[in-house]
Amino acid sequence: MAASRQWLLLYGHFKLHPKRKIDKYCSTTTRSYKRNKLLPHKIGIFIWRAKMGRLPVQLELDKRGIDMDTVLCLVCNTEPESVDHLMRSCTFAGDIWSRTFSWWKNDSHHYSDCTDMLNCIRSNSSVTSNLWQAIEWVVGYLLWENRNSKIFGKNYMSVPVLFNDIQVKSFQWISNRSKKLSLDWNHWLLNPGLDDDHG
Ligand SMILES: [Zn+2]
Repeated sequence: MAASRQWLLLYGHFKLHPKRKIDKYCSTTTRSYKRNKLLPHKIGIFIWRAKMGRLPVQLELDKRGIDMDTVLCLVCNTEPESVDHLMRSCTFAGDIWSRTFSWWKNDSHHYSDCTDMLNCIRSNSSVTSNLWQAIEWVVGYLLWENRNSKIFGKNYMSVPVLFNDIQVKSFQWISNRSKKLSLDWNHWLLNPGLDDDHG
């Protein structure tokens, strides 16, 4: 695949360096970008772009007059690929979310759309709330990375493998950034919503 085509599929109409210049764009054009300090900066930027509808999903590229072979989701190949579809209503994403909710013993997941979901749940500054937001963002970010892997013929993961990757990477990212939480791997797998005595 030509480099310009790869760039288009990954960054859409952002003809910018994916990190440095998007950082600058975020800081100068909107105040809505909020970082979750438990995660790398790149994930906050990705989520901000998803909420602003600035991901180059098939429908968005089609709307901009780019000649696409298909507007269907590149993962399930059954519905048009919007951000909301890819992140929330795609059957693949649904399987990942349902494993994630079950892992966190969270049954209150009634989101009206993708923005609602990614905005989540930072209703207060408690440790658990920040952690849950971090997990939601990691899920969104890795769903996107996995979709891109499929396009570029890289290491595309099945639902169980991607879910395991979510557990591993979220643990690594969060524990590297918050020593104070003292995350334990076994506890993380079994009961990651921290108890009161952790918060
Ligand atoms: Zn799909």
